Amino acid sequence: MADAPRVGVLAYQGDVREHLAALEAVGASPVEVRTLAELDGVEGLVVPGGESTVIGKLADRYGLLEPLRERVAAGLPVLGTCAGMIFLAREVEGPPQDLLGVLDVRVRRNAFGRQVASFEAEVEVKGVDGGPVSGAFIRAPWVAEAGPEVEVLAEVDGKVVAVRQGSLLATAFHPELSGEVRLHRWLLDLVAERGPS
Ligand code: GLN
Repeated sequence: MADAPRVGVLAYQGDVREHLAALEAVGASPVEVRTLAELDGVEGLVVPGGESTVIGKLADRYGLLEPLRERVAAGLPVLGTCAGMIFLAREVEGPPQDLLGVLDVRVRRNAFGRQVASFEAEVEVKGVDGGPVSGAFIRAPWVAEAGPEVEVLAEVDGKVVAVRQGSLLATAFHPELSGEVRLHRWLLDLVAERGPS
C-alpha cells in the first residue's frame, strides 16, 4: 500500500485539532504547518476556521504567504473552512487584511449577522455524495462575488457558502465540528489525482 499522504493543517490559530482528526479519519498522515520547512513536506493543506486576520498576520510573520502562493500555483490542493476560506480569497469586503489571494472570490466576513451569529444547517454540496453535509456556521462569511473559474458547490438562503476552483475547496461553514469528513476525503482525492509531488 502506498504511504498515507502527508496533509498539513495551517496551525497558527483556530480549530486545528478537529482538522487533524478528520484527516486521520480519512487515512491521511496529518501534520501541523507553521514554517516553510513544514510546508515543504506536505501534499495537501487545510486552512482551518478561526480568526482570518490572525491567521493572515501570522502567515505573513512566518514568511509563508509567498511560498504558499507558489505552492498553490503549482497545484497544491487546499481545503479552507470559514476563516480558511477568507484567507484563501482574492478580496475581502471592509478593512484590508493579509490574504493569500489564490481563490478568485470576494468574501463578506461575518456575513450572516452578529445576533444570529451561529447556526447549523444541512447543506447539499455538489460533488459530495451521501446526503447533505452538517455545517456549523460560526460568524461565517459568504461569497459575495466569484470569478469565472469558480464553481459554486452550495448555497444557503441564496448565499454562496461552498466553492471549488481547480484544486482549491472552500466552505463558509465548519464541516469538521460535526465529525463530517467527506470534504477531507475530497481533498485527499485531489491529492491522489495530482500524483506524487
Ligand atoms: N469571522 C471569522 C473571520 O472573519 C471567521 C469565523 C470562523 O472561522 N468560524 O475570520
